[in-house]
Amino acid sequence: MKYISTRNSKIEFTFKEVFIKGLADDGGLYVPKSLKRFSSQELLELKNLNYNQLSTEIINLFTGDFISKEDLFSLVSKSYSTFREKEVVKISKIEELKLLELFHGPTLAFKDVAMQFIGNLYEYYLSKNNEMINIVVATSGDTGAAAIDAIKGKSNLNIFVIHPHNRISSVQRKLMTTVDEKNVFNIAINGNFDDCQNIVKTMFSDLEFSKSINMSGVNSINWARIITQSVYYFYTYFKLNTDKPVSFSVPTGNFGDVFAGYIAKKMGLPIDKLVVATNENDILHRAISKGDYVSKEVKETLSPSMDIQLASNFERLIYYTNNLDTLKTLEIMKKIQKNSYQIEKNNLKVIQNDFLSESCNKQETLEVIKKNYEENNIILDPHTAVGVGVVKKLSLNDCVVLSTAHPCKFPDATNSAINKFEKLPKTVKHVMNKEENFEVLKNNTQEVKSFIKSKLYIS
Ligand SMILES: *Cc1c(COP(=O)(O)O)cnc(C)c1O
Repeated sequence: MKYISTRNSKIEFTFKEVFIKGLADDGGLYVPKSLKRFSSQELLELKNLNYNQLSTEIINLFTGDFISKEDLFSLVSKSYSTFREKEVVKISKIEELKLLELFHGPTLAFKDVAMQFIGNLYEYYLSKNNEMINIVVATSGDTGAAAIDAIKGKSNLNIFVIHPHNRISSVQRKLMTTVDEKNVFNIAINGNFDDCQNIVKTMFSDLEFSKSINMSGVNSINWARIITQSVYYFYTYFKLNTDKPVSFSVPTGNFGDVFAGYIAKKMGLPIDKLVVATNENDILHRAISKGDYVSKEVKETLSPSMDIQLASNFERLIYYTNNLDTLKTLEIMKKIQKNSYQIEKNNLKVIQNDFLSESCNKQETLEVIKKNYEENNIILDPHTAVGVGVVKKLSLNDCVVLSTAHPCKFPDATNSAINKFEKLPKTVKHVMNKEENFEVLKNNTQEVKSFIKSKLYIS
C-alpha cells in the first residue's frame, strides 16, 4: 500500500511515514494511492467477525509490511481490552433511531477507539526502532485526553497536548491535567481551538524544529485514526443485518469521523447518506448545503469538541471530489487560506450525492436533551444531541446517530437542559479531586516551541 499527499501525486510514502508523520511536508494530507473495493461476496465474509477480527481485516489493508496480521490482531485486542464494552461499541435505540455508542473507552469519547490502538502502534514501532518520538497535538477537549491515556507511561514517547484555555469542560480538562506521568505535558493557550491547531501546524511545517524533536502528530488528520474509525461503520452495518443502504448522522468538527464513513462507503459498504451534524460553527453545513466554505469567528457552544471552523480533513474530500487531482486540490487550498472558497457547482452535486448537512443551535440542542430525557429516560451528551437534533430537522427516519461522548463529560450542558447530570463511571471518578498540572501560554508559536524544548532538556 502506497500513499501520496493530497497536494502532490509524484512522491510516494509508506504507511510508516504516514503514521509517524501525520502531515506531509508540503502541508497536504496523506491519502492511499488506491482503495480496495469489497464485492458483496467479500462483505458477506466479513459479516460475522467480532470487533477485533473485523478491525484487523480492515486496518491490515492499509498497513502494508509495517506489521504482520498476527501482530496486528494482538495489538487490536490489547487496545480494546481497556473498554467497558466487550465488543467495543454498542448499538442502542431511541425511538425509531439507532445510537452507535462509541464512548465506552477509558476517556469516555469516541476518540479512544482510534487512540488506544495508535498508542500501541507507536509502542510496537519503537520497540523495533531505537528512536525517541515527541507527540504534539491540539485538542478541542477529547482528543487530548484520549491521546494522553494511550501514551502515558510508554517509553521513548513524550506527549504535549495543547488545549484552548477555559474553553473545554472541566471534566475534559481534568481527564488530561490530572495524569501524573513524566512523559505527559499539558499546555493551555489563551485562544480558541483553531489557534491551537494553527500553532501545531506551524510547528510541523517548521521542518528544522519538527525534525529536531522528531515530532509526530496524532490529531484527526492522522490516516491511522481514520481507518481505525472506518471499522465501526462496517461493524454497525453488519450488526443491523439489513440489505438496504444505511445512513449515519455524525456530530462533526474536524471532519475526521464522518470522513471515516466516507472511506467505508468508497470501499463498497452500502452507506446511503452521511449526515454532517454541526453546532453553530456551521461552516461545513453552509459548505455542503450551499457550497459556501467560508470561515467565521469560532463561537463557544454546548458541544466544545465541535467548536471548529476550518475542518482539516475536508482537504481529503476536496481531493476525492476533484478526481484525485492534486494540483486542483492545492489550488483550492490556496483559496481556502484566503478564506474565499466557493465549491464549484458540479463538485457540490458530487458531494451532495454522499452527504447531507444541518446544524443545531444551543436552544435546539438543549431541547433535544430535555425531550429525550423526558420521553425516553436517556441522557444525551450535547454532541450526540446535535446528531439527533439534525436527523429530526431533516425528517430522516431511518438513521444511525453516532453517539460520540458519555453524557457525564458535559455536566453543565445536561444540567441546564434537565437539572441533572450523569455520574462519572467508577474508573474515572478519581480525576475530580486530583491535583491538576498545566502551563498557560500566550497564543504564540514561539512560546510553545520554547516550552517544549525546555521540557526536553530536563528529561
Ligand atoms: C472530536 C469530537 C467530535 C468531532 O469529531 P471530528 O472527527 O473532529 O469531526 C464530535 N463529538 C465529540 C464528543 C468529539 O470528541
